[in-house]
Amino acid sequence: MSDKKIPLAGVIGCPVAHSKSPQLQRHWLETHGIAGHYIPMHVEPEDLETVIRTLPKAGFVGVNVTIPHKEAVMKIADKVTDRAKLMGAANTVIFRSDGSILADNTDGYGFITNLHQGAPDWVPGSGPAAVLGAGGACRAVVASLIEAGVPEILLSNRTRDRAEQLQKEFGKRIQVVDWVLAGNIIEEAALVVNTTSLGMVGKPRLRVPLDGLKPHMVVTDLIYSPLKTDLLQAAEDVGCTVVDGLGMLLHQAVPGFERWFGQRPDVDDATRAAALR
Ligand code: NAP
Repeated sequence: MSDKKIPLAGVIGCPVAHSKSPQLQRHWLETHGIAGHYIPMHVEPEDLETVIRTLPKAGFVGVNVTIPHKEAVMKIADKVTDRAKLMGAANTVIFRSDGSILADNTDGYGFITNLHQGAPDWVPGSGPAAVLGAGGACRAVVASLIEAGVPEILLSNRTRDRAEQLQKEFGKRIQVVDWVLAGNIIEEAALVVNTTSLGMVGKPRLRVPLDGLKPHMVVTDLIYSPLKTDLLQAAEDVGCTVVDGLGMLLHQAVPGFERWFGQRPDVDDATRAAALR
């Protein structure tokens, strides 16, 4: 019998039952023939540190962390990547062979990689991006758009202060526009991104006027439930290139899997089907 350790990984959240990560990661483990396991773990905030420090002793090579642990885990980690510091949150933890704990954030990577995959003709320098929302996920979107070379980001959020905070942190390429004028920023954009939760199952509808949409635009939504939001449907009706939010979820999981299990998985139709199962 082999005494080789079977690598373990998982997702820690509270709650965690809704997470699509287990079926996704298990699909990749199966596809690559890796004898590993990926486990959902419901962990209360007061137990987070004990659990994180114990898992490597039980054979864990890393974990994803989700709400409400994304900020707290950065205080437990020995090292936090620059991109996680920039986001103020981590979603991927790596237990390194020297015993140290590394916290990373792969949401920005997931967003931009999904955008390039879904809209291969989109050129970052082609024009402004209109971004709706200024919450946690928006930080990753803004950071990755700036890094990609988008010349201007027109940012509109119901709570203007949050958009102005992002402008302070990310600089002059961001122009803040009042939420009541959100429809106007769409008219000027080459790329439209919804980072609000409006349009998600169980949430109110996105009521921003969409008559500024034109066929040459790329439109993407972070929401993946439903897969085709009203925004994406309206954009598709006009002839825009549309990119749904599921791909972001799948791509953000790639770096973790690669670090933990040593192989880089593909995000393809079979991966999407596995996540939707
Ligand atoms: P969050 O931090 O709670 O931010 C929510 C955003 O929605 C804020 O900009 C908020 O505006 C806005 N909003 C909420 N209710 C609103 C309303 N009634 N009217 C106008 N604006 C409203 O959430 P988040 O973590 O950024 O997530 C946002 C969405 O992205 C969620 O649907 C989430 O599922 C999705 N997401 C997807 C992925 C993926 O991998 N595809 C990753 C992360 C998040 P205020 O600032 O005014 O409250």
